Amino acid sequence: MSQPLEQIVAVIRAAKRILVTTHIHPDGDALGSQLAMGEILSALGKQVTLYSECEISHLYAFLPGGEKLQTELPDLASFDCVLALDCGDCFRLGLKREELLASGSVVVIDHHAGHKDFGTLRWVDPHRASTGEMVYDLAEGLGVDLSYEAAYCLYTAIVSDTGSFRYSSTTAETFRVAGQLIGKGVKPSDVAGKLFDNFSVNRLRLMANVLETMNLYDDDKIAMISVTQAMFAETITDSADTETFINYPRSLKTVKVAAFIKEAPEGMISVSMRSKGHYDVAQVAAKFGGGGHRNAAGCKWPDSTIAAVWVELLPELMAVVEAGKG
Ligand code: 5GP
Ligand code: MN
Repeated sequence: MSQPLEQIVAVIRAAKRILVTTHIHPDGDALGSQLAMGEILSALGKQVTLYSECEISHLYAFLPGGEKLQTELPDLASFDCVLALDCGDCFRLGLKREELLASGSVVVIDHHAGHKDFGTLRWVDPHRASTGEMVYDLAEGLGVDLSYEAAYCLYTAIVSDTGSFRYSSTTAETFRVAGQLIGKGVKPSDVAGKLFDNFSVNRLRLMANVLETMNLYDDDKIAMISVTQAMFAETITDSADTETFINYPRSLKTVKVAAFIKEAPEGMISVSMRSKGHYDVAQVAAKFGGGGHRNAAGCKWPDSTIAAVWVELLPELMAVVEAGKG
């Protein structure tokens, strides 16, 4: 059940100390929303702590306020409210989820289609293209005039989660909010430069290696790529550098479904999937205990290999293509 925005506004107004968190391995929407929320709450005179167990990825180091993020969970007894942003599933709160969930008031703001309810108060709207867009509405509801920094973070969140306004989740509302943020002084070319024209040579070398692994199936409707720990070592990169690589196989004209299989340390395998239009990869992710949206989803295998996951995943992707033909 999703509660109306007014209830969330009331809870935030009443709270003095607020902890803001988001999902593990935060992306542009997660970080942009979290940092903007920090700004908005500070403007209201709240005492704010921004918590994430993951260090901010170097890809997002340009976001204003990133230095305010802390990786140590403080004593939650002294907080009136925990705000969980862009988190579709309590497991994605990370290692400290039980402590976070046990704190008295957990307010959830999210836009994931397969959202699994958690927390004490929820505003979940799968029709919104990004959590950043929702945080903008919340700021309006709270009567906060956004600072340039907050607007910059929210604009980055929106551009990240809509693939630069290209995905089917993009609506007139998305553009309305983006327009308001640009009105606050955000330069789209500046954000685009920071997000997309900011590669290191090492990252480009890693990308070349990863694209070499691409295999196509089913009349080139399915594309699969992978990355190994050895590739990271060879190119002096890390898993954060692979963000957006999945967009390249997805960009092929014939491809309906793309999957990226990633080897993490200690036998953990994670998979990112993307699809076009009505082809649904969220159901594949759900089948393997993961989640996400129809066109962007993911899942994990705690102890497996790339080859084993590849074999398990391919028939499921073929089934998605088959189901989408009709
Ligand atoms: P990405 O491929 O960018 O990591 O994730 C795409 C989408 O799938 C995101 O919206 C994310 O929330 C979701 N997702 C990715 N990995 C997992 C996972 O292991 N579990 C769940 N529940 N969702 C995931
Ligand atoms: Mn998001």
